[in-house]
Amino acid sequence: MFSKFTKFIGAHEDWLMGRALEYAQGRNYTKYTSTLKEAWRLSIAGLSKSLIEVAQMKGTDLELSPDEDYTNDPATQFGIMEAQKHKERGIRLDMFLGLMKYYCQSYLDVINESNFSLSEKHQYSNLTKRFFDRVEIGFCTAWTSSGQEPLVDELQIRSRQMTNEKNKYLTIFESLSVPVFIVDADGKIENMNHAASNLLNMNAAPGEKYYSNQQRDLLFTKEFPWMKDVYEYFVEDSQSVFSCEKSFDDREQFFSVSCSRSLDVSGKFTGTVVIIEDVTNRKLMEKELKILATTDPLTGVRNRRSFVQAFEQEFSRSKRHNRHLALLMMDIDHFKNINDSYGHDLGDKVLKYLAEESLGILRDFDLFGRWGGDEFIVLFPETDIRQAAAVAERLRSSLTRLKLNGDNGDSVKFTVSIGLAAATDINIQLDDVIKNADEALYRAKAQGRNRVVASE
Ligand code: GH3
Ligand code: MG
Repeated sequence: MFSKFTKFIGAHEDWLMGRALEYAQGRNYTKYTSTLKEAWRLSIAGLSKSLIEVAQMKGTDLELSPDEDYTNDPATQFGIMEAQKHKERGIRLDMFLGLMKYYCQSYLDVINESNFSLSEKHQYSNLTKRFFDRVEIGFCTAWTSSGQEPLVDELQIRSRQMTNEKNKYLTIFESLSVPVFIVDADGKIENMNHAASNLLNMNAAPGEKYYSNQQRDLLFTKEFPWMKDVYEYFVEDSQSVFSCEKSFDDREQFFSVSCSRSLDVSGKFTGTVVIIEDVTNRKLMEKELKILATTDPLTGVRNRRSFVQAFEQEFSRSKRHNRHLALLMMDIDHFKNINDSYGHDLGDKVLKYLAEESLGILRDFDLFGRWGGDEFIVLFPETDIRQAAAVAERLRSSLTRLKLNGDNGDSVKFTVSIGLAAATDINIQLDDVIKNADEALYRAKAQGRNRVVASE
């Protein structure tokens, strides 16, 4: 018979929690209550569990009697336990009983607003009322059983424990290496930790903001004008966490910002926790890594990986818009001889020189990269094979005219062979374009080098 009621109560935990919190807020009890949702959920879960236990144990007859021995009554025992816990925290009996009336009311509300029949509603409400009466008897018994002396001792012990606990969390807050600001509902910095005051160049001692009597009001957005938009957006919005990055390119400084709303459901500690972390070193390192990953260290031009990435993008774009595209492969002729005759260092200089000069000869929108060894690659967007051949010929003849002087008076000249391929066929794959250009280059070499050959 109770399984229906038991299930119903279990399924309405959130509802009951929300209703009890509403009553507590409406009547200002939240000034003294817990702040986190979990504490409210636990108190409802505890009450529901006892209510169900008592109902299962005692059946429907929970009526009171002057001769009843309450020492064995689970509801009363639950009340005594709760009373002791709250008494130690400095809660008065009148406060506690008052709030408990609203807990009881929440249970009566949920029964009343349910689909139970009238007689069921009557029965369950009565059961609930008597349960809470029994809990109250437990409170009163506990509150009146000990004298004032032991109560003062208990309170002192609890007070010392609470001070220690407060100090523990204050120390953790101050010791955090990231700057944390607690911003109140009016946008004032209510508290900030040591790292945060360092960020503001205030050089405050750890805990100064907490212990100081003379506090300067600091408006958060005045201290961080660049946070104004982000902060106001967050306050207006309903999301509970927001993070973003802010960069000051002119002074190469980067910050990671995260805002989170207070989780206090009681409404006592509203406001925002803002963490502003200087991530400049990480960002600069990422930037450097990106450059390292995409450029060829010797010549400073795109490496093969980065070229292929850009090529893939350009390739699909040109296919989408049905545009011409041409690819060039270039290889230095007899480069081994240069290395062998003048040394590897001068060979390196030739590679660098060739890359530099090629960039000067090519058009701004042509994509240039080192394919590997003495082989370079160029992508000509929106260019047909005839136009590409003209640019390739200009490149070949210009490079051939160059003369590079070594440190010991050596002067080096070199020629290049070039293979060209077009991506005009709509069905052609990227790899085929590369293969075609490579084959054309091979033929240029075979036909005597220092020439441009286009793929048929
Ligand atoms: P071919 O006309 O057939 O291209 O003859 P080649 O001698 O240029 O032969 P190949 O292109 O196959 O050889 C490229 C040479 O480039 C082999 C290698 O020792 C040299 N090389 C590759 N990378 C570097 C580099 O970073 N610096 C220098 N100095 N030489 C390199
Ligand atoms: Mg070569």
